[in-house]
Amino acid sequence: MTKKRKILVTSALPYSNGPIHIGHIAGAYLPADIFVRYHRLKGDDVVFICGADEHGVPITIAARKRGITPQQLVDEYYVLNRDSFAGLGIKFDNFSRTSLPIHHATSQEFFLKMHRDGKLVSKESKQFYDEEHKMFLADRYVQGTCPHCGNTNARGDQCEKCGSWLDPLSLINPRSVISGTVPVVKSTTHWYLPMARFQKDLEEWLATKKDWKDNVMNYCGGWFKEGLGDRAITRDLEWGIPVPLPDSEGKVLYVWFDAPIGYISATKEWAEKIGEPERWKDYWKNPECELIHFIGKDNIVFHAIFFPAVLMAQDGYNLPSQIPANEFLNLEGRKLSTSRDYAVWVPDYLKSFAPDILRYTLAANLPENKDADFSWKTLQRCNNDELANILGNFINRTVTFLGKYFDGKVPENVKLSAEDEAVIDEMRLGLQETGDLIDHYKNRQAVGRAMDMARAANRYYDAMEPWKLRKEDMERCGAVMYTCARIIRALNTVFHPFIPFFADSLFDMMNFPGKLTDAEWDDAWKEEVAGITIKEPRILFSKLEDKDIAPELERLAKAVERMEKEEAAEKKAADEYAKSASEKAASVPSAPEGVITIEELGKVILKVGRILEAENVPKADKLLKLKVDLGGETRQILAGIALYYKPEEVVGKNVIVVCNLPFRKLRGFESQGMLLCACTDDKVTLLTTEKTDVAPGTPIQ
Ligand SMILES: [Zn+2]
Repeated sequence: MTKKRKILVTSALPYSNGPIHIGHIAGAYLPADIFVRYHRLKGDDVVFICGADEHGVPITIAARKRGITPQQLVDEYYVLNRDSFAGLGIKFDNFSRTSLPIHHATSQEFFLKMHRDGKLVSKESKQFYDEEHKMFLADRYVQGTCPHCGNTNARGDQCEKCGSWLDPLSLINPRSVISGTVPVVKSTTHWYLPMARFQKDLEEWLATKKDWKDNVMNYCGGWFKEGLGDRAITRDLEWGIPVPLPDSEGKVLYVWFDAPIGYISATKEWAEKIGEPERWKDYWKNPECELIHFIGKDNIVFHAIFFPAVLMAQDGYNLPSQIPANEFLNLEGRKLSTSRDYAVWVPDYLKSFAPDILRYTLAANLPENKDADFSWKTLQRCNNDELANILGNFINRTVTFLGKYFDGKVPENVKLSAEDEAVIDEMRLGLQETGDLIDHYKNRQAVGRAMDMARAANRYYDAMEPWKLRKEDMERCGAVMYTCARIIRALNTVFHPFIPFFADSLFDMMNFPGKLTDAEWDDAWKEEVAGITIKEPRILFSKLEDKDIAPELERLAKAVERMEKEEAAEKKAADEYAKSASEKAASVPSAPEGVITIEELGKVILKVGRILEAENVPKADKLLKLKVDLGGETRQILAGIALYYKPEEVVGKNVIVVCNLPFRKLRGFESQGMLLCACTDDKVTLLTTEKTDVAPGTPIQ
């Protein structure tokens, strides 16, 4: 007997500002549920944890838009999303919430321990502030133009177009999302996790993960190469977990910091619910326990870098053993868009269709190694051609035959032939191989392997021709039908992780002894079925007609039409803007070539910077690599001044920095701005401020 495993499985906490769609399900939930159900049937000790992520700026913005409180918003989505998961058979041991006191207390403990141990740094920084609403504009509360790619709708924390993480102050033409006004810049103090201090330990730890997916390893490798910087873990907001320090009113923990701790508090809540409040430690602090995070690829950095660093800074917590991140799911060949309602929402789906059909279709088309596509035609085909015509057909013909010629009773005391033994052996092998595939996060192959077992079952039935045997050799016919019942028992188990509603219904109809979930995966093909009396046969899969999926296709076609209109309107507006700008430029006939307007000059953002550090760049004799303080931020700038200045000569100097040029790489280093210099053929002089007490970050007008 193999040793039983102890596994804590988590699925990414769904964010409580909207309903769940099929992209979420394919990313972090269905693969986890399949994995958990399989390991339970193996007899392993598994706890499956999830919960609603209820803090952060998008929730406060969504609540404000609807004129309700953030609490009202998250209460609504908690119920909706909990019921969506239950409706699809995603069966967590606990679906918790990050707004619960147990989570607030756990997150605050984590923060305080790191604070006490000197693992955090506090820094004063400049942040945008909305004077009309008297509030700091954290993250998405400010929008503007991305300094990297020029996207005019970049959010303060990240540009969705080019994927860059942004310092809100680097946005060009910033505006407040709340009031639409241009924000002012104010000072505020925040706590940061200095990730650079964890980089070596993280790299060494990740280097031991030989069997992790390429997407996770490549992503982390990229982050390490760039070098980990300080990550703010607090925010100026009203909604969230208060920073547990004196004089920190109006400050809360940043949602990326508190959300993953939600896995721990959700496990604590589970332990309390089962009446063993200390039991959670057996899953978080017992090195025998495996910790497996199921996520989508957009969450890799939080689960493979940030959260492990937070865990390393605590006492005796397990680090993740595996992070099987999935890629994205597309819909009918297009990217899903929640804001444009181009998605299949789980609550809508469940109103018209059975959960198993979606589970099966998604499992067979999971974005495991690359983005995958979901279409309603595929769902219809999966249901009709596979679930109904292959799996359903075998069960139906067996059950009908047994009902007609054996009074619904599985024959006893039969003598098996070599063919019978062979097909039973194929079931044994199928269970083993499907299980191994699930265990290695290859669900597409796993569900295909399971369906191959049903194909083999039909081939066996056709080859044995029980309808002929019935007239020629009733004893042999009995052996074949007994074998078919054994096959159904094996199929019942092998399909349980993928389509559990079907499996429960089949188990009940077949009147198999015991409970399905008591069974051992590896022994399901052995199960004694002789003598059982089958209940009234029922239809397990009904065909889906074109008319059944037509309303869905129509709804998506309308969404596409709407999206295309919106995209066209955006493009037209951009074109008109460009045209009017060029007409404006052309309407200044007297201007000599090279004359610019005051608006054009205003586009260049110049600030006073103070050089903090300077060093030569190997193999680049003209370049100095500088660290320049710009008030709210420090930038790395490569300047071509090394022939004229020694590094120690420029440190401490005030310089003039062009702040809104695109960042670019020079000799492998990112240069995040440009210094103004007076240049002739043989001399370069840095422009500095006449007085030396000008503060870094002072704008130049
Ligand atoms: Zn961008």
